[in-house]
Amino acid sequence: MFWVGGNDGNFLFFLFLTYISYQSYAYYYFNSTKFFSIKNSVKSHVKNCNDLNEHIEELKKSYVNIKSIDYDDINLADKSIYNMKRRMWSAAVKNHMTHNCSLSVLRNARDQPIKYLFKYFDLRHDNYTLETVENMLNNFSAVEQGKKLLMSDRESIVQKIIKNIPSIIIVFSKKRFEKNIGFDRVDLSNIYMPVYSFVYVSSGGNSSAKADFIFNVENLNKIVSYLGSLIKFRASVYGQRLLMTSHLRERIKRRDSYTCKTCGISTSDEKNLLLEIDHKIPLSKGGITSEENLQTLCWKCNRSKGAKILTKIS
Ligand SMILES: [Zn+2]
Repeated sequence: MFWVGGNDGNFLFFLFLTYISYQSYAYYYFNSTKFFSIKNSVKSHVKNCNDLNEHIEELKKSYVNIKSIDYDDINLADKSIYNMKRRMWSAAVKNHMTHNCSLSVLRNARDQPIKYLFKYFDLRHDNYTLETVENMLNNFSAVEQGKKLLMSDRESIVQKIIKNIPSIIIVFSKKRFEKNIGFDRVDLSNIYMPVYSFVYVSSGGNSSAKADFIFNVENLNKIVSYLGSLIKFRASVYGQRLLMTSHLRERIKRRDSYTCKTCGISTSDEKNLLLEIDHKIPLSKGGITSEENLQTLCWKCNRSKGAKILTKIS
């Protein structure tokens, strides 16, 4: 510091003073009536963003575990002398989303991931699994699209008021500014997507390899098509139904002119509007996936429809 003497010390002290001055200024600014009136002018837009953020978080949690058997009772017999990775391996066995296998199974799983996923994680080739995966795909697509729309909506709100905000605040305290204006934190990561792993650990424990299958939008579409092609051959009413892929969802939105069938709002009214696809008669009440039974709803109407069904049940 400055008492050390020399130019370096003075310079550091200067930086320190500048930092303190800026922090006091920022503190004063965020507590000023001027800032509060700007905050007030966008209050309802900010709330709308936060509600969408909350909705996205709920959709992330909507994933139901499609696993039917777990591997808890597996017997581990590791007689190797070098078992450095033993502890890691035992932990992995307890995790039902991890399958420990031979190197040849791992290689096959890499070549034909979906086939091996179903085989080794004991997933059934039936309508229940298909519907569950379609539901995940529906929700995860909405999450991924919703995240983009939310960020773009937030940015447009910031752009509306940015000319009234001192540029020094935007340059040095963009995050703090967003927080003070009232935006909730947005989680843009993909960690909500389940991951199934094939893991190979050599008997000595010194070499290992891993193949991950992530349930992202692209892979979920592939699973839906894979299951659909297997189930279609079976004689049932379900055999006649459509597959709820990203492609079909886009087709329904286009058919409905990107307009919510309940409240009538459309993407031409609101550029960053999240639209979702809804089964008019829910699958749980015997509705099937057909063009007549599908409709476009805005996320708010779809959310309140879901809430109504829940209150009817309870
Ligand atoms: Zn609506």
